[in-house]
Amino acid sequence: MKALVLTGKSQFQYTDVEKPSPASDEVLIRLKACSICGSDIHGCQGGSGRRIPPIIMGHEASGIIEQLGEQVTDHFIGEPVTFDSTEFCGSCDFCKKGMTNLCKNRKITGVSCTDYKKDGAMAEYITVKARTLYSIPPSVSFEEACLIEPLAVGLHAVRLSQPEKDYTAVIIGDGTIGLMVLQAAAAAGAGKIIIVGMQDYRLNAAKAFPQVYTVNSKKLNPLNTIMNLTNKEGADIIYDAVGTGKTMQDAFSYVKNGGKIICIGNASVTTDFPLQECIVRQIQVLGSYSSAGEYAYGLQLMEQGLIDLTPFTKYTCPLSQGEKAFHLLMEGKSEILKVILKM
Ligand SMILES: [Zn+2]
Ligand SMILES: [Zn+2]
Repeated sequence: MKALVLTGKSQFQYTDVEKPSPASDEVLIRLKACSICGSDIHGCQGGSGRRIPPIIMGHEASGIIEQLGEQVTDHFIGEPVTFDSTEFCGSCDFCKKGMTNLCKNRKITGVSCTDYKKDGAMAEYITVKARTLYSIPPSVSFEEACLIEPLAVGLHAVRLSQPEKDYTAVIIGDGTIGLMVLQAAAAAGAGKIIIVGMQDYRLNAAKAFPQVYTVNSKKLNPLNTIMNLTNKEGADIIYDAVGTGKTMQDAFSYVKNGGKIICIGNASVTTDFPLQECIVRQIQVLGSYSSAGEYAYGLQLMEQGLIDLTPFTKYTCPLSQGEKAFHLLMEGKSEILKVILKM
């Protein structure tokens, strides 16, 4: 089969590799679409230590089941599917509690690090565990379906934040995850959503929802907007999809007393933390990692038309041209939110 193989730092080869065959608890998927994640762009340049070449990257994907392992009885050949980017074991203490994102034996698809290597979906075929599969509803396209992975990250963060209806949310960061948190907050019934970013073309992608206010922090002070929209009290819940010392400080200045800060991004590994302020204003700070089973709910929201993915599905490119797409995204000059590779 053909695959886009990362062969060195920012170096790719579109080449023939061996087609995988499914183990008894796996299925073989003929892939149709795979979107390029920010972590792939960062990783292929050697920045994260999680894309050690040679590796086939890609963990946001969709396709059609072509072959079933002997034990797989709850899926069928020809079924359109997507799959959890985390291969979880299904039997450890965390998996049993539904916290599959914390599975003790987890492997992330399309990642190679010092502990393991698991080839991903920038290829014609992939095998995945049947327990990680989700059927794609008929009205959802393969391009939309591969975006379930980042959407599920947003849905997970919003679920952990336990929002009340009509709550006021602030999202720090206009990257894919920030924009997906926005979709999830809208679906959860947020009354006002203020997204703080630095790129107008990204912030414009957030404007499909009437309750959204966008602030380009290069041009305006977000604090004024947030205080004006919240009777000078601050917002109920802040989602930090960036994660630096600066955004942590910002989150504390945006949140109301007794409110919540959900940490999703970790651009900085460690930061200074305003401990005293956290205590005397009784702020709840919570980490949110990846997703844990939000795929089914996300696909349902897509089917119901409650999620707007059109800004993300505009740019597609054949897998054979994948290297060009990576270089375009690495340059960072194009106003492209997402590139979806097609097979
Ligand atoms: Zn991703
Ligand atoms: Zn497990």
